[in-house]
Amino acid sequence: MCPPPNSGSTERPWRKPFKAEKMLLGEWESKGRETHNYPWRHEYDNDLFRSTAEVEWTKTFNQLGLPWESEPLKFDMGPKHVSYTPDFTITGLSFPGSDRPLYIEVKRFPDEVDLTKYVRFTEWYKCDLLVLAHQRGGVLKPRKEGYFLVLRCPRCDTYDCFACDEPPPEDYQPPYAPPVCQACQSPFARVAVPNYFLIQQGTIATGRVALERHPISGLRLRFR
Ligand SMILES: [Zn+2]
Repeated sequence: MCPPPNSGSTERPWRKPFKAEKMLLGEWESKGRETHNYPWRHEYDNDLFRSTAEVEWTKTFNQLGLPWESEPLKFDMGPKHVSYTPDFTITGLSFPGSDRPLYIEVKRFPDEVDLTKYVRFTEWYKCDLLVLAHQRGGVLKPRKEGYFLVLRCPRCDTYDCFACDEPPPEDYQPPYAPPVCQACQSPFARVAVPNYFLIQQGTIATGRVALERHPISGLRLRFR
């Protein structure tokens, strides 16, 4: 039996993940939904995508011969985060030393990254999430590497995340960031991560993830 939603103080999800169907624009409108909210505006390889960044990655996965699936599952994320649908999974792709499922989130750097939701997702669903936030200039070899300054409240275990073009110095103060957690006044813990980074079941790995062509396996995930 599933517990009812929003019960007690728990934020944890209760509904099982499911495959959400992508609708064509006509179907969307026939259900009375507004056109300007239609999410899948990009078509490629007989599939629909939310952004050009997703299409770029799809092309790259195809070039590398990797069997991808777009929006594989929609996950219940409880009353606060509502739901999360990772952008991709790739069959057979995993990180050395992890037997957890690996999901992929694609962003156009420096678009907003909802890190608290991503971390919760990897904790609650015991999985890894590879965040690929690339700049223009090619996804496998971005012209310029970027960074995120991550602020974490150790008490609330919530995160904020700021895009930086260079590795942020220790005393860097992001614009519009409060000096302490607004909810509990705790000082933030700070860590800088590259724009391709990995969240492993609730822990943000600080190494850079490199996706490289490999003569035999097609694609290699390197972590340094
Ligand atoms: Zn706090």
